[in-house]
Parts: sequence; structure tokens; C-alpha cells
Amino acid sequence: MTNKVIHEVFSILAEEVPRLQEPIVGRIARDRDPFTVLVSTMLSLRTKDSTTEAACARLFSLASTPEKLAALPIETIEAAIFPVGFYKTKAINIRRTSGILVERYGGRVPCDMNELLDLPGVGRKTANLVMILGFDEMGICVDTHVHRITNRWGYVATRTPEETEMRLREVLPREYWKDINNFLVPYGQYVCLPVSPYCSRCRIKGYCPRIGVKKSR
Ligand code: SF4
Repeated sequence: MTNKVIHEVFSILAEEVPRLQEPIVGRIARDRDPFTVLVSTMLSLRTKDSTTEAACARLFSLASTPEKLAALPIETIEAAIFPVGFYKTKAINIRRTSGILVERYGGRVPCDMNELLDLPGVGRKTANLVMILGFDEMGICVDTHVHRITNRWGYVATRTPEETEMRLREVLPREYWKDINNFLVPYGQYVCLPVSPYCSRCRIKGYCPRIGVKKSR
């Protein structure tokens, strides 16, 4: 797949994706609060959306600002976010990050990729999502779905999500940077599944060389 057809592919996704469920971080990010975007994204890593959603609700009912979260005992944070994946590590990182935000940034989340990447437990996926959803700034958030699908398309040929982000920054028209994650996360959850994607009902099929797909429905 090349940029000759990318506009058609994105217009198909714009029609299809609203029928699928919006990812949890997008739902939480509606109020555009960078701190809740940051924490909910940290919680969502390697965790089902329904588990993340319940954990966010429990945690934010106790504390939804860096000041309040930094003051919570670690055991309280662990109990609130259990059973998200790696909940003990995430509890430590969320509390440390909250403390740094208070000490270094006056309780605000920095609107800067490098400063975000310096926070404990914050990788490129999280930092990009905070820039996009928290600050309405440019970014390309690449998770496992964006990485897998753009490789199946042959739009990139990369080994890691980080390589995919860098390649997309070179080739993807900027008008799609913010949306690619919003589109491909639900598409990857409901249509272009990791194992045995639903190619027979996929409207992108005519544009997709299905690179690496061994089994499909
Ligand atoms: S045709 Fe199959 S592999 Fe290609 S995008 Fe659609 S579901 Fe994914």
C-alpha cells in the first residue's frame, strides 16, 4: 500500500470505525485533561479496556490530580488499580510521576515529548497519546495494533512499534497523524485481529496485500 491509496483507506476507516467501540483512553480523554490521559494510558498498557476503565474509575474517585495522587499510600493505589497488568510497577510509576509533576512542573503535565519521556513508566506510546489527546498537538501514537496493521498493509516494513512510529513520521500525510491510533486500535480489536483477521468482511481488502497473514476468516 502506498500514499496513492492512503486517502481512500482513511476515508473507509472514517466510515467503519465509528461503528466499533472507541478505545478506553479516547473515552477518558474527552475532557482533555492531560493528567487523566497520562494516568489512564499508563494503566491501559497490557491491560483489557474493561479492566482499565474500572481501575481508572476507582483511582480517579480517590485522586484525580498529581497532588492528591502523590499523597496516596502505594498500597491504596495498588488496591484501586488491581487487576491491571503489572499493577505493582504501575502503582509505583504513577505515584513517582505524580510527585515529579508536583515538584518540577507545579502540578501540571509538561507539553513536551522529551519531558514526558523522562517521567517514570512513560514510553513513546504514552507520550504521543498525551500530546495528541491531552494537548491537541501533533503526534503519532503507535501501539501493537497500529504496528501490526500498517505492516500487513505493506505501508511500513518495521520490526518494532518505535520503528513504525519513525517510519510513519516520514511517510504518513500529517492530516492522519492524530487519527491513526483512534482508527486502528478499534479496527485491530474488532476486524484486523492479531490472529485470523476478518479479511472477508474488511472493506480495505482491495488495497491490502495482507503481508504476514497466514490464517484469516
Ligand atoms: S484485509 Fe485483512 S489484513 Fe488487510 S486490513 Fe483487512 S483485515 Fe487486516
